[in-house]
Amino acid sequence: MNAGARRALVTGGSGGIGAAICRRLAAAGHVVHVHTHRSVHAAEAIVAQIVAEGGRAMAVQFDVTDAAATRAQLEIILEEGPIQVLVNNAGIHDDAVFPGMSPQQWQRVIDVSVHGFYNVTQPLTLPMIRTRWGRIISISSVSALLGNRGQVNYAAAKGALNAATKALSLEVASRGITVNAVAPGIIATQMSSGAFDTAAINDIVPMKRAGKPEEVADLVAFLASTEAGYITGQVISISGGMV
Ligand code: NDP
Repeated sequence: MNAGARRALVTGGSGGIGAAICRRLAAAGHVVHVHTHRSVHAAEAIVAQIVAEGGRAMAVQFDVTDAAATRAQLEIILEEGPIQVLVNNAGIHDDAVFPGMSPQQWQRVIDVSVHGFYNVTQPLTLPMIRTRWGRIISISSVSALLGNRGQVNYAAAKGALNAATKALSLEVASRGITVNAVAPGIIATQMSSGAFDTAAINDIVPMKRAGKPEEVADLVAFLASTEAGYITGQVISISGGMV
């Protein structure tokens, strides 16, 4: 391993933004655990691509809302050593105007983002603290900063993530661990496709284009680097000027 290489875990690494983050962290020399919930083939394909390019990666599968299953998989990962770069990227949205939002829509979106943050981050924190170096980066959304019609659940979930980021950053700051959130605007992935057409993007985004997963990945990789060691407790937008 080169001096700056760390063991990394990217939740939702099988998705659009997550895959770009996995590839970017692997290119920076990190050993990347590419996490998935259901898309095992996608995660394995990303691992194969990273390995073919000379990087190191492996796939891991669990539902972040299942506390016991998550802990069991994390214990296996921790047997090999601590995770020092954690990217909480797994997330879902399930939009509905609030009067029509079902309890399931409310709970599931909160469950993946907020309980998922706890289930994954908490067991990894003490081993990370013991190494006196770490990076915890959570993928939030501009929806938490601006609000968005039809996304009361999603905005609440991502807002909680931002608040948890700030609180945790204070707890671990003196141990060489930074904790930040990245708030993307409209990024061209399967999650956003269909939600915004070109006219809507022209209207909403000052830069008049969707962002690329690779642009989010570059920001995450910088926050994961040694050079970003004095940035903590921040929510950093990457949104073409939306906020
Ligand atoms: P995708 O739908 O492409 O990927 C979502 C990822 O989350 C998948 O890997 C999925 O795994 C995983 N996931 C979903 N539910 C669970 C669960 N219960 N347990 C474990 N993993 C789960 O989304 P994007 O790549 O577009 O989004 C990534 C992150 O970025 C999300 O947090 C999203 O909210 C955020 N974001 C995205 C924006 C966009 O415009 N695309 C804008 C702002 C924020 P699997 O495939 O196996 O089900």
